[in-house]
Amino acid sequence: MSLLDVHRERAVIALGSNLGDREATLRSAGLDIAATSALNVVAASGLFETPALTLDGVDESAPAYLNAVVIVETALAPIAMLERLNEIEDEHGRVREVRWGDRTLDLDLIAYGELTLSTSRLTLPHPRAHERDFVLVPWLQADPDAALPGFGRVHDLLARMPAGGVTPIAAAPLLPGSVGES
Ligand code: ATP
Ligand code: CA
Ligand code: CA
Repeated sequence: MSLLDVHRERAVIALGSNLGDREATLRSAGLDIAATSALNVVAASGLFETPALTLDGVDESAPAYLNAVVIVETALAPIAMLERLNEIEDEHGRVREVRWGDRTLDLDLIAYGELTLSTSRLTLPHPRAHERDFVLVPWLQADPDAALPGFGRVHDLLARMPAGGVTPIAAAPLLPGSVGES
């Protein structure tokens, strides 16, 4: 390590969309992440489809979600990284209305290294990631050794969950050549 080395953390981003051209939106958001000089993509999942979850539970009548996960290395601080993710959401027409309502693009910061943090703007790891198969299934595909700080291996978390409705869709990976670690 030299004085010129910057400390980098590995961070996990979950992408979701259930409005508009979901696949095009996720692919474009993936490219926006990859084009951010402060974020270096190390792995990305394929695309998965999941029924919409609303405050009233699973809603089969609402448009289903497409989900994916991108793993990056970054020297950005966690809040700066969340701000960049919010910018990318805004560029894709995200409007903030009903909590858990339909949206063109949702980008959640799932984990940032081993950091645990709870502020009004940012909680790490993401407080609901451990119970969400639509986050854990793509994450495990992108990184078979994934672990959620405070909760253990993603593989084991999924093994304890009922087999859910997360279905891989027949499509190219989110980013070219990027299923699993590169
Ligand atoms: P959920 O958080 O249950 O996935 P959501 O993604 O629909 O719900 P949003 O409306 O996108 O919720 O975000 C609500 C707030 O959550 C944001 O304003 C943001 O400041 C905050 N937040 C806290 N922790 C995180 C995190 N780890 N990743 C993204 N946003 C977070
Ligand atoms: Ca979310
Ligand atoms: Ca969010």
